[in-house]
Amino acid sequence: MGLSWHKGYCNICDLCIDGDHNLCPEQEGTIIGNHGGFADKVRAKDTSVIKIPEGLDFNAVGPLLCGGITVFNPLMQYDIKPTSRVAVIGIGGLGHLALQFANAWGCEVTAFTSESKMEEAKEMGAHHSLNSRDDSEIEKAAGSFDLIISTVNVDMNWDVVIKTLRPKGKLHFVGLLEAPLEISAAPMIMAQNSLSGSPVGSPATLRKMLDFAARHNIQPVTETYKMSEINEAFERLESGNARYRVVLERD
Ligand SMILES: [Zn+2]
Repeated sequence: MGLSWHKGYCNICDLCIDGDHNLCPEQEGTIIGNHGGFADKVRAKDTSVIKIPEGLDFNAVGPLLCGGITVFNPLMQYDIKPTSRVAVIGIGGLGHLALQFANAWGCEVTAFTSESKMEEAKEMGAHHSLNSRDDSEIEKAAGSFDLIISTVNVDMNWDVVIKTLRPKGKLHFVGLLEAPLEISAAPMIMAQNSLSGSPVGSPATLRKMLDFAARHNIQPVTETYKMSEINEAFERLESGNARYRVVLERD
């Protein structure tokens, strides 16, 4: 069994009854405000405990239950089709999973990333890569994408990014931006574009995500440390060089 970002929900509000537990106002975090998961035992409410399907590597499941669900959820929420064109901004802990999910979904996938990660992005499922630091390169992709999933926390020229959406396309945030968003409304109005965001996913979506990951062999790229090496693991994480998720294993 696995536990995601939430260790409990009220289960009786309108959102929970509709299956949108991850939006429940009474949601309880596994980590924030609680004792976290670095322990032999953890207490959680039954709805938030997720069955792990056969065939998934145990070390892969932790990153899937957090980063994986965060980028899988928009594909479900917006009824993304295999014919859709999906772009992912930022290839890191979230983005490298988003590329794999969107590729397995059947979409045409584009990575917005730094030059150094362009080839790696293609190995993870991107059909095309764009240099995210070069506005003139992004401009050439105008009118291309049905959905852009932004996983970054750094600022970009969002007006240029929004112009790469097709009419009715969405720019969806799952990464917390450090700066307030600056955008021009007119191009969005003319193309009926929208901005959105979402946190992790519901228990129902978590189950579907794990089944889908097992079936399509979606594998987070991880670095594994023993629990006794936790300080080293945190140093690695803080360095920003970890590829792409750090997993702690019991000694
Ligand atoms: Zn609720």
